[in-house]
Amino acid sequence: MIVVRMPPSPTGPLHLGTARAALFNYLYAKKNNGKIVFRWEDTDKERSKKEFEVAILEGLKWLGMDFEKESEKIYRQSENADFHAEWLKKLWEKNKIFPCFLTPAELDALRKDAAQKKINFVFWSPTREEDKAILQKRMDSGEKYVWRLKVPKDRNIIFQDLIRGKVEVNTNTLGDFVIARSDGSVLYPLANVLDDMQQGITHVLRGEDGISNTPKQILLFEAIGTKVPEYGHIPLVLDQKKRKLSKRNVDPSVCVLIPDFRAEGFVPEGVVNGLAFLGWNPKTTEEIFSLEELEKIFDLKNVNPGAAQYDFEKMKWFNVQWMRKMPLEKLIAYYNKFTGSEFTADVHGKVFEEAREKAKTLEEITPELEYLIKDPGCNPQKLLNEKMKIDTSLIKIVMADIYKMLEGIDVSDFNRERIREESVKRIETLGLKNGQYLWPFRVALSNNEKSSPPFVIAEIVGKEEAMRRIKRTVNN
Ligand code: GLU
Repeated sequence: MIVVRMPPSPTGPLHLGTARAALFNYLYAKKNNGKIVFRWEDTDKERSKKEFEVAILEGLKWLGMDFEKESEKIYRQSENADFHAEWLKKLWEKNKIFPCFLTPAELDALRKDAAQKKINFVFWSPTREEDKAILQKRMDSGEKYVWRLKVPKDRNIIFQDLIRGKVEVNTNTLGDFVIARSDGSVLYPLANVLDDMQQGITHVLRGEDGISNTPKQILLFEAIGTKVPEYGHIPLVLDQKKRKLSKRNVDPSVCVLIPDFRAEGFVPEGVVNGLAFLGWNPKTTEEIFSLEELEKIFDLKNVNPGAAQYDFEKMKWFNVQWMRKMPLEKLIAYYNKFTGSEFTADVHGKVFEEAREKAKTLEEITPELEYLIKDPGCNPQKLLNEKMKIDTSLIKIVMADIYKMLEGIDVSDFNRERIREESVKRIETLGLKNGQYLWPFRVALSNNEKSSPPFVIAEIVGKEEAMRRIKRTVNN
């Protein structure tokens, strides 16, 4: 049975990198009929906040991944201190770890010395081979210390990364690293390993920034004497300048946090689809997948080990595809929730059908509704267009003609095709360019230079309202 885990630290809002790691774990578990463990790594008391916990779980749920349901329980690293302390004791008994008494100042001097000599600083502690009884005495006497792992010298740690293939690191690049403070509080690499072991994790899929910890953690699993899980490191997401993607570095209009996507009016299907394609693809030309579809086809073999380039325009593209593809009722429900409105498919179906063709986000639906549902008013100046040679005298002729043309179409036949046909006939008869007729027609209905075509607006608002909007420009 495959067991994966999602162990975020609740120290900030939900970043798309974290959401993507959650998604890949979720998909891997679903595809392989496995389990997911959700765990808060909340031992940093200063930076861990309840409000981030709520927001992270909420954000993942919005994307369609309900970890409160998926995980047997929500684990908490901070509640596992006794288990950590117990293992620290066992590791000391087994002679796998030792106290190191070097002061921070002494360590700093060694570090500076290495820097001067231009060599990498690797620390082998002077107490690593010391007699246990002597070390115990020094601890008992109140001397300050930290716990370090007794790292075997000159050993190649080799693991088969599920995404990157063979990774090899020599322990001579690691040295004796710190695993716990003297008060028994264990640090990230060991706490993470102990929790993973206790929770039966078989597969660790995490961001590439965790890869430097992996050889250390393999040594820790070995010291404990338990099976090492499989590791897979998900490639980094880079910004346009090839830096690790961070909200601080990008233009404010670019969404990096999941709450930003929500605030901008993205639909969750679009965001999930875009996240999946950050580093993964199905090796076919198909790009549009729902979460349920991804669950069936996700394969770590198709995760590209190279860094993923973040393209916000592509995220918008996925969003557009989903806004156009999803059932209208669903889109309207999303829009209602986003804006606090109460539109229905029965009454406003046609309006939304049209609006979603133009909008890239839920937010961009609003300006379409301004003229499809409400009367936008009309600024007569906007009807004029120098480039198209539309002046006041032409407006007079054209607006009167449009009014008559609309009047002549029976209500039962008042649809976009018919209105288009009639318009084309009138343009020919009057000997005008298309724009000279259609521009003022459209602007008179929408008061908006980038609206839907006039035939569509006229059909949607209906004969009476269309004629009313045109009439006021005739009178002007
Ligand atoms: N709490 C760590 C983080 O949020 C977990 C890293 C891991 O998956 O091991 O970065």
